[in-house]
Amino acid sequence: MKIIETVAEMRSERARMTSPVALVPTLGGLHAGHEALLHAARRRAGTVIASLFLNPTQFGENEDLDRYPADRERDLAVMRKAGVDAVFAPSNSEMYPPDDDFVVDPGAIGEILEGAHRPGHLRGVSTVVAKLFIATRPDLAYFGEKDAQQIEVVRRMARGLLFGIEIVPIPTVRDENGLALSSRHAYLSDDERVAAKVVYRSLCRARDAWEAGERDKTTLEDVIRAVIDTEPLATLDYAAVVDARTFGPISEPGQGASGPDLTALALVAARFGSTRLIDNIRLDRNVTF
Ligand code: AMP
Repeated sequence: MKIIETVAEMRSERARMTSPVALVPTLGGLHAGHEALLHAARRRAGTVIASLFLNPTQFGENEDLDRYPADRERDLAVMRKAGVDAVFAPSNSEMYPPDDDFVVDPGAIGEILEGAHRPGHLRGVSTVVAKLFIATRPDLAYFGEKDAQQIEVVRRMARGLLFGIEIVPIPTVRDENGLALSSRHAYLSDDERVAAKVVYRSLCRARDAWEAGERDKTTLEDVIRAVIDTEPLATLDYAAVVDARTFGPISEPGQGASGPDLTALALVAARFGSTRLIDNIRLDRNVTF
C-alpha cells in the first residue's frame, strides 16, 4: 500500500493506476462503516485510493477538530487490511495552499438541515471533496448513506461541475442496537452510548407511522421528536422528513400523496453531552436510503 502525501506524487501515481479507479474519502477514526465502503470499492475497482485527511474547513469554530479521534497508524492498518492500493494523506498546506480562500458553494441544499446547524460545514465538504476529486481523478467515489445530505451535495457537485465521477452510496452500518457507527462514538460515556439508541428508535417509529399510512411531514417529524424527548440525555438539533430525491417537501405538486413515486427520508441530529450524532432512514422502503 502506497502512502502519498503530496498532490504532485498523487498525480504521477494516478497516471499508472489500473482502471476503474475508486476513491474512498475519510477523515480518519476508521470503523466498520468505513470498512464497508473500502470493501465495496475493492470489489468493483481496479485500484482503490482511500484518502485520510482531517479537513479543517468542514469543522465549525467550537467543534471537535482538535480532539477528533483519528489514529493514523491504526487507520492505515485498517486500510491495508481492506486491500487499499494507495492512501492519499496530504497535509493541510498541500490541500490549502497559502492564501487560498477559494470555495465550492453547494447552493441552497448547503443551507438547510446540517447546513443550518453547522454553518459552512457543507461548503467545507464540497470544497475538500472537489479538491480530492481533482487530485485523484477517480472514476468512482464511495460515500456512506449515514451522511445522506452530504451524498446529495456531492452528487449535485459531481453533476454540476461536470466531474464525470460515479457517486456510489453505501448503506449505513449499525451496531447490534441499530446505532449508526460513527467515529464520534469514542466521545460517548457508557450512559450516553445506551441513550444514543434512541436515535435509530425514533426513526423506526416514524417508519412505523409511514407504513400505517401517515404522510403528513409535521406529524412524522413530531413522532421522531416525541421519541427523542423520552430520553433525558438527548437534546434534539432537528428532526426532518423530506423528499429523498429533492430534500424538499414530500408531496411535490403533481405527486399524489399516495403516489407510487413518493419517496421520503427521515433525518435526525441529536446531542448527547458534547457529542453530536446524526442518522437517517428511508421511510418508503425498508432500506436506509
Ligand atoms: P468520515 O470519516 O466520518 O467523513 O466518513 C467517511 C465516509 O464513511 C463518509 O462517506 C461517511 O458517510 C461514511 N460513513 C461514516 N459512518 C458510516 C456508517 N456507519 N456506515 C456507512 N458509512 C459510514
